Amino acid sequence: MNSFALIINGKRVEAAQHLDVCNPADGSVAGRMPVATEAHLNDAVAAAAAAFPAWAATPDEERQALCFKVADIIEAHAEELAQLLTLEQGKPLGGLGSRFELGGAMAWTRATAALSLPVEVLQDTPEGRVELHRKPIGVVGSITPWNWPVMIACWHLIPAIRAGNTVVSKPSSLTPLSTLRMVELMNKVLPPGVVNVVTGGGGLGGALSAHPGVSKMVFTGSTPVGKKVMEAATGTLKRLTLELGGNDAGIVLPDADPKAIAEGLFWGAFINNGQTCAALKRLYVHDSIHDQVCEALVAYAANIPVGDGRLETSVLGPVQNENQFNLVRELVDDARAHGGKVLLGGNPSNGPGHFYPLTLISNVDNGVRVVDEEQFGPVLPIIRYSDVEEAIARANASEFGLGGSVWSSDIEAAKKIAKRLECGSVWINKHGAIQPNAPFGGVKQSGLGIEFGVEGLKEFTTVQTLLV
Ligand code: NAD
Repeated sequence: MNSFALIINGKRVEAAQHLDVCNPADGSVAGRMPVATEAHLNDAVAAAAAAFPAWAATPDEERQALCFKVADIIEAHAEELAQLLTLEQGKPLGGLGSRFELGGAMAWTRATAALSLPVEVLQDTPEGRVELHRKPIGVVGSITPWNWPVMIACWHLIPAIRAGNTVVSKPSSLTPLSTLRMVELMNKVLPPGVVNVVTGGGGLGGALSAHPGVSKMVFTGSTPVGKKVMEAATGTLKRLTLELGGNDAGIVLPDADPKAIAEGLFWGAFINNGQTCAALKRLYVHDSIHDQVCEALVAYAANIPVGDGRLETSVLGPVQNENQFNLVRELVDDARAHGGKVLLGGNPSNGPGHFYPLTLISNVDNGVRVVDEEQFGPVLPIIRYSDVEEAIARANASEFGLGGSVWSSDIEAAKKIAKRLECGSVWINKHGAIQPNAPFGGVKQSGLGIEFGVEGLKEFTTVQTLLV
């Protein structure tokens, strides 16, 4: 088994203590995570702070070239990282699994490397000249979740360093190994201290968020933990980007073709087993085609093989962890108790592994937990509606506002409805399809700030206005 170490100031740092990281497919040990002490965290922040002045002063083209080299080294080790990711996260190697995630990590790294933030001249007249300069902030703390750990780490680390900041990364303790290895690889091309990584149990993320040496936090995870990060960050008024939970709604209009949209609906909801922030988590379907949409979805889902991610035959894997598995079971059982009709799945076996079958439930509505709460698992509630105004109102009746979608044969009609959904991203005839040049972020309690593209890069800078 590989040995994993913290990466501080460009060096592997061995920890005295380790914790097992388990493969959710069978409970076997995927690897041992080093447990960072408070002293390790302080060392990592100090290394990042020491590396900051030189990195910030590095000519922009040099930083850009090094970010491209980061993508190249990830590419050279993509299969190794994908295998590790499957082992700890459970997702299959193929399809929309680990190799796909590595592909995303490289694509976002290269797209972000290619960006730049030139000086903007706001005024240049005989009365004076006004220039807007973008400057790096300092040490950035990054905290990532367990669902897409490698790709989300790149969403944090690459814009941070591209803009001239240095970073301390803290991945989820459920999936730390692929990030530890990826940061080790990044350190083969970056100057020491530019990207550091610490891992550990409870308390480490809070300590990083409160650390006086950190000037900005970028956090992806649940809304309750995001609020804790915000609270911890107030002491030193850290800049914040928070990408939080979602309970995305999709609205299927009466003119949609059930068979044609079934595949898109399925993957919108079940990509990564539903463990995706901007997955379709509630589907509102017009009464006139409700039964056909249900039938088409059941027919599509029933043919998807779920199994151990290491097998090339698996299209979806296990739920990543026991808490998430138990939550899905609880929500499905509660829906059943409230009159929900389970069209597919709903009865997990007793293991081994956290396998929950792909589950479709109809005859539920707002007010039932599986509709109101973020399930973050392989279950989709299908809600019947007869008046589109009512569907919009129910879709918007959520504290979340990450994504949404409208499904119709009439794009212009769909766009009008899409613009009325209270969410940061809205798709027509697809759901959750993110791309590096399309800004992404949540409204309401789904987050603060934006990722991707130039808008995302600006989040890792402060403005200096220069007046001549
Ligand atoms: P989580 O909030 O439980 O954990 C996220 C990270 O925070 C982990 O690294 C965890 O160790 C750390 N953490 C735990 N307690 C902390 C504390 N007090 N202070 C600081 N850090 C702490 O989330 P999760 O279960 O890993 O991920 C699932 C959630 O993430 C879902 O709600 C999902 O919607 C959300 N998510 C959002 C996006 C997005 O872009 N909006 C993307 C992926 C996931």
